[in-house]
Amino acid sequence: MHIVTTGPRDCRNSEVIRLLMVHLREAIGPDLLVIQGGARGSDRHVKEACRALGVVCETEWANWTGPCDIEGGWCRPFHRRRRADGTEYCPAAGPRRNAMMLYKWEPALVIALYRRPGAPRT
Ligand SMILES: [Zn+2]
Repeated sequence: MHIVTTGPRDCRNSEVIRLLMVHLREAIGPDLLVIQGGARGSDRHVKEACRALGVVCETEWANWTGPCDIEGGWCRPFHRRRRADGTEYCPAAGPRRNAMMLYKWEPALVIALYRRPGAPRT
C-alpha cells in the first residue's frame, strides 16, 4: 500500500510522526511503502522514522532548477525566482512534484501534516 506524506518544512514534531509510522506499519504490514518529498521538516522526520522502523520509503524530488512548464499550465512567463545565492528556481516545481506523486504512485492514502499558524513547533 502506497502512502504519500506531505507537511511543513519547519515541523519539529518527530515523535508524533514516528508514532504515526509505527501505527501504519502495524496496520498495513510489509506492503507499506511511504513516499515523501525529500525536504527538511516533516519529510525528513518521515524518512528517518521509516529507516528506523524498516519501512520502505521513497523520495520524490521536486526539480526546482529544471525548466518551467508554461504550455502545461503550471507556470507563468517570468515567474522564476532567485535565491540568495543567485540561482534561479521554478516556484511551481513543488506543486508539480506533488501532482506527480499522485499520478506515479497512486497512493491509497495521503497524509498531510499541518501546523496551525501560531501553534508551537514542538
Ligand atoms: Zn515555472
